[in-house]
Amino acid sequence: MSHGPRVAKYPEGHSGVFDTHAHLYDDKCDSPEEELRRASSCGVDTVLIPADNVATSRLAVEYAQRWNGYEGVTLYASVGVHPHEASSYDEDAETFIIDMIGKRQELRIKAIGEIGLDYYYDHSPRDVQREVFAKQLELSFEYDIPFILHERDAAGDCLDILNSFRRRGRFLETPGVCHCCSCSAEVASELIRMGFYIGFDGPLTFKNNKKTPKVCEICPMDRIVVETDSPYLTPEPNRGMTNEPAFVPYVVEKIAQIKGMEPRAVADITKKNGEKLFRI
Ligand SMILES: [Zn+2]
Repeated sequence: MSHGPRVAKYPEGHSGVFDTHAHLYDDKCDSPEEELRRASSCGVDTVLIPADNVATSRLAVEYAQRWNGYEGVTLYASVGVHPHEASSYDEDAETFIIDMIGKRQELRIKAIGEIGLDYYYDHSPRDVQREVFAKQLELSFEYDIPFILHERDAAGDCLDILNSFRRRGRFLETPGVCHCCSCSAEVASELIRMGFYIGFDGPLTFKNNKKTPKVCEICPMDRIVVETDSPYLTPEPNRGMTNEPAFVPYVVEKIAQIKGMEPRAVADITKKNGEKLFRI
């Protein structure tokens, strides 16, 4: 894997691109100076740094403080415990998250996440994943802050849990984003009906992926956000390189192709969507 210069640049005239999901603190990433310099030169002006456990929540917040505004890129963070790490969720973790979201304004925290279910890897037992997901959903509702949903091969249980919250009236009007959408068009439609935004990233551009473009086709433009999930899931034509926010314009271009729109317009709309979703 290498960091590299093959990037999509935008012509002048768009209002910026919002990469709503980049793990900038990851060891595989280049230095924040380099990542943000290249992002900025490609028109990316806003990045949200998501977390997956207590340690990376601290890092995400630290990066969003320290590097906000560097090269003109605005940074935000999320805090939360990923389903892979559900076994690590204890009372201390919960207290920590509550404490952080209490200071969300000054800490630039815009969401809880990543939270959800991952039955593909099963890194934590499924019953623990469900319990920890529900606990953090409760926090999202209680503290009125949207969440970043990670769901893989667990759509049935995920919808069941979300619906049980909805039935009890413990659900935000805009609950959050289905990040790195890998579900079917049917499941995506149900999430959209619940008020979710759908996050598209590298896999949308993969030649062998027939499923995600179909989700993009049915997804209304006002519910789409773009993301890299960097350093992972590098979009075409850069597969094999380490992913970074500078590559998110390739996702924008793919959406533009699917929707028959100008990339510039897709950049504008998805940025506005991200700002609405995360209440910026
Ligand atoms: Zn992620």
